[in-house]
Amino acid sequence: MKINIIGGGPAGLYFAILMKKLDPSPDITVVERDGPHDTFGWGIVFSEKTLTFLDGHDHQTYTGITAASQSWDAVVVGHKGETATVRGNPISGIARLSFLNILHARCRELGVDLRFQTNAANVADWLDCDLLVGADGANSLVRKTYEGFFLPSVDIRQNKFIWLGTEQPFPGLTMIFRETDAGLFISHSYKFSQTHSTFIVECPPETWLRTGLDKMSDADTCAYLAEVFKSDLGGRPLLSNNFVKWLNFPLVKNKRWYHKNVVLLGDALHTAHFSIGSGTKLALEDSIALADSFARCQTVAESLPEFERGRKPVVEKFQAAALQSLAWLENVKEHLYLDPVPFTYRLMTRSRRVGFNRIKRTDPEFASQYNVWRKAQPQAGPIPAEYLDLFQKKSFGHLATLMPDGTPHVTSVWVDYDGKHILINSARGRLKDRNMEGRRQVALEIADPDNPDRYLAIRGPVVEVTEAGADDHLDKLARRYLDKDKYPPGMRFPGEVRCLYRIEPKHVTTWNPFG
Ligand SMILES: Cc1cc2nc3c(=O)[nH]c(=O)nc-3n(C[C@H](O)[C@H](O)[C@H](O)COP(=O)(O)OP(=O)(O)OC[C@H]3O[C@@H](n4cnc5c(N)ncnc54)[C@H](O)[C@@H]3O)c2cc1C
Repeated sequence: MKINIIGGGPAGLYFAILMKKLDPSPDITVVERDGPHDTFGWGIVFSEKTLTFLDGHDHQTYTGITAASQSWDAVVVGHKGETATVRGNPISGIARLSFLNILHARCRELGVDLRFQTNAANVADWLDCDLLVGADGANSLVRKTYEGFFLPSVDIRQNKFIWLGTEQPFPGLTMIFRETDAGLFISHSYKFSQTHSTFIVECPPETWLRTGLDKMSDADTCAYLAEVFKSDLGGRPLLSNNFVKWLNFPLVKNKRWYHKNVVLLGDALHTAHFSIGSGTKLALEDSIALADSFARCQTVAESLPEFERGRKPVVEKFQAAALQSLAWLENVKEHLYLDPVPFTYRLMTRSRRVGFNRIKRTDPEFASQYNVWRKAQPQAGPIPAEYLDLFQKKSFGHLATLMPDGTPHVTSVWVDYDGKHILINSARGRLKDRNMEGRRQVALEIADPDNPDRYLAIRGPVVEVTEAGADDHLDKLARRYLDKDKYPPGMRFPGEVRCLYRIEPKHVTTWNPFG
């Protein structure tokens, strides 16, 4: 068997290693346009869970990575000039170059043919093989060459970001929010070696233009940003790595993952926002999943569909969480009024993979600080505070309305809560619309999608039916329920008129027998 891999990043190199471990006989070539000691960027991070997973697949690379890593367990958030720390998040940082060099050494040891400084300008030149892997990053040439088959989408996000370094040690995953006269700047930093930390700066496009960063030289850019974060950097400069470039994050997805004997891997296939720090983790897990498919199925024709079938749902779930995180940062202005502890709590729970109970388990001290703040707040309204998470999850409500003859009608609905009323969004002329217009009493059960035994049961009158703001509200719901910025026009009926229904929760029952 002959395998050609375009792209010697984490995905391509790790896949080559795993395939050689599976069977040393295939002839595997990795084509990489850069040299073995060139790399853009600084450090990358892995969670403890990811490292344990890697250990199970290749102990030697795991040992190399852990020996070259810096570990910590805190997330530190800087806001309003103060910091809040949340412990219990074990993470390791490693220089991207050291990490790649560990993979290079392992590839050589296993007999992989590494061809550096070789740019694959034309995919057809590398098709002379049984399997061609496109592991050529977010701007993948392989994906573009077969875009008619892969059907990719690339959503270019609004915020500008730049990947820099510093000698200031940040012994924790540190995010700092700085409001300046020109606008908001956010930094993401972490220590990845004895001497250096990664320092990514992100800002909204208006801030970027207002400050003139679009026209600044590399040196002026580093100096300007070092001044913005002067106190956080202890006055140390920001460093560039031959790569001072502002980027917009491209959210890459592909409808199909393989075409004949060509398959995509890593960033070429999908991206996940750096705020959840897991692009490399996803790339490595792809390699593991593809190699596992080859271990289970004998042929390329069987292995590639098996890879897509097993891996795609996992990646889609992860990308949905990463999109929540990214969108939260794009809209962070609405949270900046909060004090550091509640702000940090919202930040920690932004991708909805972490909730209060998890934080309480891993850092009881931070959880109790948050509780003090929560208890001091004015009453949240008729819905108990510990059930408000149901309005952040993809929770479905089952809405009971009354038919003209008095018999009940039940339908599932998306639900929202404004602190006073439950909000339902529907369209004029639907059965529930007609029922609610005619008979205002309704009942609604909202179950936790993660535990249907836990639910809210609500009864009360529909106190308002209005078209005002209903379209914007539907877009808001689409962000939560569909992971889309806007409700897709194609999902609407021609001429559909949306309505908002405000339900006053007069009777509220909660149920969580096993929680
Ligand atoms: C600012 C920023 C911060 C990040 N921080 C983190 C982090 O903390 N943790 C984390 O896990 N991930 C992080 N990532 C993401 C991470 O860098 C990628 O997700 C990861 O490297 C993907 O691996 P890959 O092998 O798929 O692609 P890449 O690492 O992009 O590798 C692709 C390789 O293909 C080569 N190539 C491309 N085209 C050709 C061609 N035509 N011919 C030959 N070679 C070619 C490229 O030179 C490159 O070496 C970050 C990304 C950015 C932009």
